Amino acid sequence: MSEHFDVIVVGGGPAGLSAALILGRSRRSVLVVDAGEPRNAPAEGVHNLLGQEGTAPRDLVRIGRQEVARYGVTVTDGRVVAASATPVTDDDALGFRLTLDSGEVVTARRVVVAGGAVDVLPDVPGLAEQWGRGVVHCPFCHGWEVRDRRIGVLVTTAAGAHQVQMFRALSDDVTAFVTDPDLLDDTVLAGFAARGIRVVRTPVVRVLSEGDAPSGVELADGTVVELDALAAASRVEARVEWAAGLGLTPVDQEANGVLFGRVLAVDGAGQTEVPGVFAAGNAANAMLTVVASAAAGSQTGAMVHGDLLRAEVAAAISAGTGTGTAR
Ligand SMILES: Cc1cc2nc3c(=O)[nH]c(=O)nc-3n(C[C@H](O)[C@H](O)[C@H](O)COP(=O)(O)OP(=O)(O)OC[C@H]3O[C@@H](n4cnc5c(N)ncnc54)[C@H](O)[C@@H]3O)c2cc1C
Repeated sequence: MSEHFDVIVVGGGPAGLSAALILGRSRRSVLVVDAGEPRNAPAEGVHNLLGQEGTAPRDLVRIGRQEVARYGVTVTDGRVVAASATPVTDDDALGFRLTLDSGEVVTARRVVVAGGAVDVLPDVPGLAEQWGRGVVHCPFCHGWEVRDRRIGVLVTTAAGAHQVQMFRALSDDVTAFVTDPDLLDDTVLAGFAARGIRVVRTPVVRVLSEGDAPSGVELADGTVVELDALAAASRVEARVEWAAGLGLTPVDQEANGVLFGRVLAVDGAGQTEVPGVFAAGNAANAMLTVVASAAAGSQTGAMVHGDLLRAEVAAAISAGTGTGTAR
């Protein structure tokens, strides 16, 4: 795979494959490097995805890989571990060398960072084992599946009170576990009381499971609260360590003063602060769902194509090699 590509897409999830699809259909040579660990891998199915509702996350990317292959896109299993910016052809001022975990070096004129993110979970024993199944974070993604069940919500961030009310919209039986008093003001407590939400202030020390499902939580005083599902907030960290060689480091992403994660900063076209390097999906926005990540990837792919076109037109003008006539 010594070929030089128009675009290397780092990450073959919904964002990366959507960028590859629009670029492949625009006759760009595209390499997708994918480590094969989509963020939602633990979940049984992808929800709120019109046309593919409930599809298993790995089936979705398998179908996506088949679709991009139709347009000549190359997808390779592997992980990008390092990168540098350096022109690799004479006709484009921009160029990039990416090193894969196999040791192979691949080059391109543009890069799309679409490696998604990892969820940094609250440090409670037993919680990680149930993540994406009995321990959930997103009422839109998994709320329907736990409707009318006994739901606990572990409130660890300032956004937690809102998350409690979101799950209360799905079940009458909701318990908020809150140890930090700063996360509960009188307005929040009044809202909980008005909607019949129980509040437990004793710390949760363990998530309990029976077989493959959560059965409750154990509190610091030994009390067990039986539950069918537990909601918890994660901190979303873009998987972009390898991009440090390009001069890119993640920045805080906040909404309403609450830190949601750390992602690459991009403009409306998906362009990062490094010319020629774009980013889409959770790598650039911690709050995007699957369909939104795919949309961002598609839009970013279109912008990359336009960026390449501009460079090609400029190169053709300065070379004076045009054969057409302009009127
Ligand atoms: C448990 C859980 C369940 C969810 N359920 C839903 C749901 O039901 N509906 C919904 O809309 N959203 C859901 N989400 C959110 C969803 O996971 C994200 O919106 C989506 O995965 C973002 O797509 P992406 O392409 O940006 O990243 P990802 O899907 O994470 O794909 C990124 C890909 O890039 C690869 N990669 C990373 N680094 C590198 C590297 N250096 N080199 C090569 N490859 C790399 C990864 O291995 C991965 O395959 C859920 C999230 C979680 C945590």
